[in-house]
Amino acid sequence: MRWRYELGDIPADGRNVEAPIEAQARGFLLPRRTLLKVGVGLVVWPAAQFLQACATTGGTSTSRSRLRLISDEEEAKIGVAVFQQLQEKELKRGRLMTEPDGPAAHAWVKRVSDRVIWASGLGDKYRWEYILINAPGTANAIAFPGGRIIVFTGILPVARDDAGLATIIGHVVGHVMGHHMAERISKEFVMGFAEEIAREQGASDSTIATMRLVNRSILSQYSRIHETEADLIGLLLMSKAGYDPRESVKLWQRMNDAAGEFSRGHEFLHTHPGSGTQIADLQAWMQQALQYYENPSLALPVLK
Ligand SMILES: [Zn+2]
Repeated sequence: MRWRYELGDIPADGRNVEAPIEAQARGFLLPRRTLLKVGVGLVVWPAAQFLQACATTGGTSTSRSRLRLISDEEEAKIGVAVFQQLQEKELKRGRLMTEPDGPAAHAWVKRVSDRVIWASGLGDKYRWEYILINAPGTANAIAFPGGRIIVFTGILPVARDDAGLATIIGHVVGHVMGHHMAERISKEFVMGFAEEIAREQGASDSTIATMRLVNRSILSQYSRIHETEADLIGLLLMSKAGYDPRESVKLWQRMNDAAGEFSRGHEFLHTHPGSGTQIADLQAWMQQALQYYENPSLALPVLK
């Protein structure tokens, strides 16, 4: 069966991450098919409407409904397993930058990450680790549930300074806090499953094609919601960590410029192009962020 929804064109960097996530998640999700069949069967078809109902959007708030078929613990297991696989792969490729290889880069990433992780309140929940990948042509950074961070060295010149790097680390840790991975794999699984049910019920190829188009548009809508949410959480995290949130605007402008310079295979730039909407959002949240910058002991808003 199709275990999850096909995402279409993903750059090579992204596929390297997506394939192991898919393999890991399959182990948790496939045994839940029967349970899910009842749930999806209740709404029959189109399941897209069911998902649409879950999509109470907003974008500027951290309060919305979230479809999750796996627990926090399962999500963390997937994150750590995928991180380990990528780490081994990079070790074999000879791209893993050890501390003696790049003491300054390591000290920089550690200093900023430690502060952002403290601000996130996830310091005790996960045992955090980070690695650096020596890849000057790759401007990318990823944080995994379970507390793992990968920084590709190509993003360091774009980060430029502590506040810039804190913007990036804050954003990727924001994805972890929002449990975006669990939500995304859950949705892709349900969509793949709904398609299978539609086929069983004799839906025509053109109906399936329409269904896929709708699903794709829902997924890309979710991807935008996740990015906006990670931007907001990241902004609050960097502020609470002691970095001037106004610097985030400059970082995303640099990111935008870099997106023009780099052409292919740069996942972070591909999925995170700085945009006018993003800058406007950051500016709209700035007063709230400055409160955290001035008073780091202020509690973060609760994610709902
Ligand atoms: Zn992101």
